[in-house]
Amino acid sequence: MAERERTAESGTWGPEDVEKIRARYRAERDKRLRPDGAAQYLLPTGDLTAYAVDPWSEPPAGRDPVTDDVDAVVLGAGFGGLVAGAHLRKAGLKRIRLVDIAGGVGGTWYWNRYPGVACDIESYIYLPLLEEVGEMPTRKYAPGSEVRAHAERLAEHFDLLRESLFHTEVTSLHWDDELGRWRVGTDRGDAFTARYAVISSGPFNRPKLPGIPGIEKFRGHSFHTSRWDYAYTGGAEGVSEYPGLADKRVAVIGTGATAIQAVPAIAPHSREVLVVQRTPSTVDRRDDRETDPQWWAGLEPGWQRERRENFLALITGGVAEENLVGDQWTDSAPVRGRQRLRRGTGEDVAFAIEVADHEKMAELRARVAEIVEDPETAAALQPWYRQMCKRPGFSDRYLQAFNRDNVRLVDTAGQGVERITENALVVDGVGYPVDVIVFATGFEIGADPAVRAGADVRGRGGITLEQYWADGLRTLHGWVSRGFPNLFHLGSTQNAVSVNFVHVLEEQSEHVGSVVAEAERRGGVLVEPAAKAEDGWVETIRARAIDMHTFLSECTPGYYNFEGKPRKRVESFGGGPVEFLALVRAWRADGGMEDVLSG
Ligand code: NDP
Repeated sequence: MAERERTAESGTWGPEDVEKIRARYRAERDKRLRPDGAAQYLLPTGDLTAYAVDPWSEPPAGRDPVTDDVDAVVLGAGFGGLVAGAHLRKAGLKRIRLVDIAGGVGGTWYWNRYPGVACDIESYIYLPLLEEVGEMPTRKYAPGSEVRAHAERLAEHFDLLRESLFHTEVTSLHWDDELGRWRVGTDRGDAFTARYAVISSGPFNRPKLPGIPGIEKFRGHSFHTSRWDYAYTGGAEGVSEYPGLADKRVAVIGTGATAIQAVPAIAPHSREVLVVQRTPSTVDRRDDRETDPQWWAGLEPGWQRERRENFLALITGGVAEENLVGDQWTDSAPVRGRQRLRRGTGEDVAFAIEVADHEKMAELRARVAEIVEDPETAAALQPWYRQMCKRPGFSDRYLQAFNRDNVRLVDTAGQGVERITENALVVDGVGYPVDVIVFATGFEIGADPAVRAGADVRGRGGITLEQYWADGLRTLHGWVSRGFPNLFHLGSTQNAVSVNFVHVLEEQSEHVGSVVAEAERRGGVLVEPAAKAEDGWVETIRARAIDMHTFLSECTPGYYNFEGKPRKRVESFGGGPVEFLALVRAWRADGGMEDVLSG
């Protein structure tokens, strides 16, 4: 064991120290584990439907059902759907129809317009096709309105609005073998056909509410952050004054990435803000700044791909001489641990990463103590878990907000709100009267890929996707499945994703575009994996699966580990995204198309 001991910035870490921290983390986790797991949440249906109503645009009163034929239908008009549309356009398709329940494009950026919303991945690598559209983000972390405007610009640039249907949900997607097309049905009575179909429904499309007893009894006002009620709070996107809150006691329930942005934005305008916490987030530096136009003008063509790949390599443990983005994602615990190994200490990887993790978390806890003046509040805001158990947070304003007289942390010691009455929240027997409750409680993320689309998807012989995937996903590279010709999946299926999710989506779309371009060039062929190719990929996924179960079981509950009940089966590629992208590029270059293009 002696070789495992190392001198680090915060002292010497040996197995005993590590064991002590592990015990503390377990105790914190155990406080939060609950038998109902993900079932603790409520979806905005039934009596709670009002929480999902679109505040941003009215659905058209009525429109005639669409009954035509298009080249491609894309389920979802977020960045995934948009980049898929862009690459299908480049592949030569003429009629491309995006369908979305939202009233416009942008996906998560259509819905999330809460005060303070901004990109928390660097905009230069997050926003897709920046070079092609010729756009300069104003800041390193662009505000949400700018991100959405970019989505709208992409839609215009690639002419994706003409055929698209908004305020519309695809309910059925059935393959018609005779027609050689997908039959598409929607909740607005549309019944059209499409040669290709892409499912890009995204992970953050369904807001969830906490199943707090009495939630329906509250007589004050309440809403979910993804449906911010500016009519009540005053202000608007781009108008950072919320006069409607001046005389209000506001409770924000939840302290995830959303609350970290919203709390400091509303605090100066509210009479009082109660931040109701179950588990503190990690809050690292953000270092936002305006874009330097001179630097921007000097960027060489191809810079975005280079910057994205540099970021991807660094955060997934790869080697890069330079750190182009230089943010706190690229200084996260796993990155530090792996870099240390590069310097040749000879420790085993898991231990090195764990030590780096404990150091990083100690620094983040010290940061809280440095910024937050009241020691009790500071102690409650300190996170006790491995950094990657939860989505890391970044802010130079959130912790500081607790030094304001009108902001108060209501820490629930991991238990959440006990109940809600007509006019108050009750935590540990104490009532907190409030006028408005803002639910910053996140989104339903755990649904299976087969049901995520929300539509009844049936391939050859009426087999549903759920049936085909009943014993685990079966795809080639995560995009295509046998029996479901010309149907592509975007997102995290049997591939490898990363925090810069839009980058992943664009790579996936580029791939789909090149397969479709080749199918079009050959003419009269369907895109469908050969049995051998699909079997081979499923085998690769199983053979190279990395055991995340142990790590996630030790984690405090959250959506990363399905609320403390992590899944055993691993459906992502164990080699990680860098190797995955290289693998599919090589596949394309080395005649891989023969695996998916049948006569
Ligand atoms: P999260 O799911 O991350 O957070 C939900 C919060 O609600 C948690 O703090 C949770 O506590 C709390 N909560 C749930 N139930 C209760 C309860 N009964 N009582 C008290 N608290 C409760 O949702 P977010 O909306 O913050 O973020 C969702 C995701 O969206 C992020 O992880 C991120 O990926 C993305 N995002 C991205 C942004 C970007 O700029 N790119 C910006 C904002 C969000 P607990 O932790 O104990 O479960």
